[in-house]
Amino acid sequence: MSALRQQRKSDVLMELAKRRGIFWPSYEIYGGVRGLLTLGNVGFEIKRRLENLWIKYFVYSRNFQIIESPVIGPRPVYVASGHETQFTDKALKCGKCGAVFRADHLLSEAGVTIPEGASLQEIDEIVSINSVKCPNCKGDFSKAFHWLLMFKTEIGAGSGEIGYLRPETAQGIFTEFKRLYVHGRSSLPMGVAQVGRVFRNEVSPRQGPIRLREFTIMEVEFFFDPDSNPGPSEEDYLKHEIPVLTAEDQEKGVTGFRKMRVKEGVETGLFSSNWIPFFLVLTKSFLKALKIPEDAFRFREKLPSERAHYAKQLFDCEVLLESWGWTEVAGFAYRTDYDLSGHMKVSGEDMNVFISSSGRRIVPHVVEPSFGAERLLYALLEHNLRIEEDGRICLSTPPYLSPFDVSVFPLLSKPDFVRKAAEVARMLGDFKVNFDDSGSIGRRYARSDEIGIPFAVTIDHQTFSDDSVTLRFRDTREQRRIGIGSLHAELSKLLSAPKPDV
Ligand SMILES: [Zn+2]
Repeated sequence: MSALRQQRKSDVLMELAKRRGIFWPSYEIYGGVRGLLTLGNVGFEIKRRLENLWIKYFVYSRNFQIIESPVIGPRPVYVASGHETQFTDKALKCGKCGAVFRADHLLSEAGVTIPEGASLQEIDEIVSINSVKCPNCKGDFSKAFHWLLMFKTEIGAGSGEIGYLRPETAQGIFTEFKRLYVHGRSSLPMGVAQVGRVFRNEVSPRQGPIRLREFTIMEVEFFFDPDSNPGPSEEDYLKHEIPVLTAEDQEKGVTGFRKMRVKEGVETGLFSSNWIPFFLVLTKSFLKALKIPEDAFRFREKLPSERAHYAKQLFDCEVLLESWGWTEVAGFAYRTDYDLSGHMKVSGEDMNVFISSSGRRIVPHVVEPSFGAERLLYALLEHNLRIEEDGRICLSTPPYLSPFDVSVFPLLSKPDFVRKAAEVARMLGDFKVNFDDSGSIGRRYARSDEIGIPFAVTIDHQTFSDDSVTLRFRDTREQRRIGIGSLHAELSKLLSAPKPDV
């Protein structure tokens, strides 16, 4: 057995990520900054395709709007949203060396359990009873405090106007609600999506590509009338089975998850809004398109003490990862009318809409599916990384989520082979082609497999007599003879992405 096969998959992946331009820690020449990541040529493209697939599933398939709002927001936005006071972590600062730690992480590493949602005072007591000291210098901690997770900045010169970098894209949708509602033909339900960078000033992230201070979020704010559109009108989603870990099960000490038909969850009142299970089913379908195995993801209902301040109910989609266990890749929050009402109060703008069928004026309610793109990218890579018997690495990502569509190789690096290969590559111009004529053909196949290019076209001796090439399949290494004239149509078919199940 090769040495590589004895290593952990996550270690192989981290090494591959640096070596082949998927991702790596940023600013290494200055010692690096935790929680910041640079995507290379390969990682950028896989992530872009992942985002496009998400847009296809969560925006186009439902006829939602998609917008782009600023990354910077003025302070009143985040006063209204509650983030300025609520979006915090409890932290401890060493009185001697000044190091700051997230209280829950520090205490669990010191072997001390703290109750979910412990107050600052309770944390101080736990620290003192267990005489927890600074792991760096053994110094004593000063009082626990709230650490604001938003990056603060100033807007303009001399004005002193405080701004924040957005911690979610949602507020850029809520603040524009009145205009978006008109664009959506003034009717509910209405979905508005956004894909963009968000910023969270984590105290001391130590989970590599999983806990980032700047990352891409893909989210939908789905507005509805809880009285006239309490759930989807089509009932297709009810028959689907989803892997669920409920809050009630967790309180009984259950771990893992169980498969539940959505209908059962709806009938037993598990969901505070039926739009939540609808988006869970859509997510299951999306994860299937990412080739995340069915036993490696679940929807965990968050305990009341774990919920974000705006959420009446919250489910996380968690994917099982080798190094980090069950890891949140998406959240599904029932935000009620919390945000629109908050902005109505602080801005003075009326966010009510008129429901003509019932003659009522209401502030719409919101269910929000929200996905972390980098975490999904990591989960996609880890679950699709294969180490072959002979020690070769094969990134077996679905063809539509590959960094290139196809490799084009001349069998030999002779001028007539290279010329013909370049001609075929040009003919495939609307695909993303990896043209490689360096080194042996075996090495070129290996490099192509490592970054997950699903197909390789090779120009060989026979090409010159009958205008055919070999089409090689990454996952099976099968080679098929195909006429150059049929190549374009064949690749289009092989590269097409599936459609959502709901
Ligand atoms: Zn210290």
